[in-house]
Amino acid sequence: MTTNVVVLGAGFGGLELTSRLSEALGTEVSVTLIDRSEAFVFGFNKFDVLFGWKTLDEARAYYRDIVKPGVVFRQETITSIDPEARRVVTDGAAYDADILVVALGADYDFAATPGFVEGGHEFYSLGGVQRLRELLPSITRGRVLISVLGEPFKCPPAPCEAAMLLDQWFTQRGLRENIEISVTSPWSRPIPPSPDGSKAILDRFAERGIAFVTETLVVSIDPAAKVAHLRDGGTMPYDLFLGIPVHRVPAVVQASPLAENGWIPVDKGTLATRFPGVFAVGDVTSVGTPKAGVFSENAAAIVADEIIAQVRGGEAPAAFGGTGTCYVEFGDERVARLDADFFGGPSPVAPLRGPTAEIAREKDAFAVARRKRWFGYSE
Ligand SMILES: Cc1cc2nc3c(=O)[nH]c(=O)nc-3n(C[C@H](O)[C@H](O)[C@H](O)COP(=O)(O)OP(=O)(O)OC[C@H]3O[C@@H](n4cnc5c(N)ncnc54)[C@H](O)[C@@H]3O)c2cc1C
Repeated sequence: MTTNVVVLGAGFGGLELTSRLSEALGTEVSVTLIDRSEAFVFGFNKFDVLFGWKTLDEARAYYRDIVKPGVVFRQETITSIDPEARRVVTDGAAYDADILVVALGADYDFAATPGFVEGGHEFYSLGGVQRLRELLPSITRGRVLISVLGEPFKCPPAPCEAAMLLDQWFTQRGLRENIEISVTSPWSRPIPPSPDGSKAILDRFAERGIAFVTETLVVSIDPAAKVAHLRDGGTMPYDLFLGIPVHRVPAVVQASPLAENGWIPVDKGTLATRFPGVFAVGDVTSVGTPKAGVFSENAAAIVADEIIAQVRGGEAPAAFGGTGTCYVEFGDERVARLDADFFGGPSPVAPLRGPTAEIAREKDAFAVARRKRWFGYSE
């Protein structure tokens, strides 16, 4: 009998999983990949769309283009997950799985920060990116405040990357001297597991006159007064407020028995949930790695190898190592890389290389390789 694998979510995790299964097993397994969207967009391409370096359509990779033996894509919204029965209901159908993999990512809770919906902006959702892209050209002076509104959040370097790219944007337009840029973070440095990565960012901030305000959490904003209220009772004025929204599991996961304390707990080596035959990978879990695509992808590879071993009767794969390579935009077409290892030693490490123009090209190649592998695109 063909093993029936149902994969929920076609982001980094779901796409890597289905690609691996198809490559190794072809039609020996039946894989159903479900996502509510019609297209995938890399998180880092949101900056390209924001600054007009790519159109949204150029950044999109369409799920309808996936042609892989054994894989069927369904564009449907998942409305309930029963992990005990391994049964999933969507707005279009119901699915029973032999193996169920939950890769539904993290959603945003904009309303968790009072004032944010009414008066804030953001570059984490595609809608937010498009609105901000319209607004940016009208900004010629004032204070730009980039604030982390809760933990955990996707791509820990992203708030600092945004500051360095905004610095570049305003400099190129001859407006930089009229603009103040500040980042607030709940942490004591930009990337806690990377002392040298944090130093490189802070050195660049010092060189470019960008402020980094540590151990500070914005809890609400007052759009009328244009003031952000801080956890410690203080305030910070702004003209443009860019928030990194509070993250949470998608509502369908929250409503299922899978989530505990906000996220899906999994075995850190195998990514198994407490429900037999049900795995979870990526941002939707509390596995202990940062919420970033490269960790979702690497975790999905382990689950794929486990499924391949089950189907073929081979040896169980190595445990998930909690490793991933993150690229960090420094502006002026220079990118650094962090080779993060979260489980290999007593504490997480993420040494930095760069920033250089060569690593910027390496990052481009990273995206091209995945668009080819996951979607068959040849650019
Ligand atoms: C500005 C920015 C920059 C970033 N830069 C980087 C970077 O440089 N490197 C990096 O590794 N990561 C980066 N990230 C983070 C990265 O995008 C995410 O961590 C990554 O996408 C997580 O992968 P995932 O597979 O766990 O979930 P996702 O990629 O979020 O996929 C989850 C999928 O589930 C679908 N879904 C959710 N709920 C439902 C439902 N009810 N029904 C159907 N489908 C549903 C969603 O549509 C989505 O396609 C960045 C993020 C941002 C916002």
